[in-house]
Amino acid sequence: MSKKRATKAERKHMDRVTALGCIVCTQLGYSDSPAGIHHIRAGQGTGQRADHYHTIPLCPIHHQTGGYGVAYHAGPQVWENNFGTESELLVQVMYELEGKKYA
Ligand SMILES: [Zn+2]
Ligand SMILES: [Zn+2]
Repeated sequence: MSKKRATKAERKHMDRVTALGCIVCTQLGYSDSPAGIHHIRAGQGTGQRADHYHTIPLCPIHHQTGGYGVAYHAGPQVWENNFGTESELLVQVMYELEGKKYA
């Protein structure tokens, strides 16, 4: 899938998202795990491009390498059962960004 190139504002937003650290690790009580960007699919109709504002921070283990039940891309369904849906996590990310805006 080809993604639209991020604008400057979008890149800045994604920098702030990754700076939060992995959202799953945060839930589990490990703070500041180095994270990368995961583009969520939830709530996006077919034909809609990936939105760089609909992104959550995930560490490599919770994103790609952790295996079934731990890594999102190893099995999205079971992952969402374990850690919450993409939409729920996105809300949490937005909430944390708000909190840090004035910190
Ligand atoms: Zn993690
Ligand atoms: Zn991803």
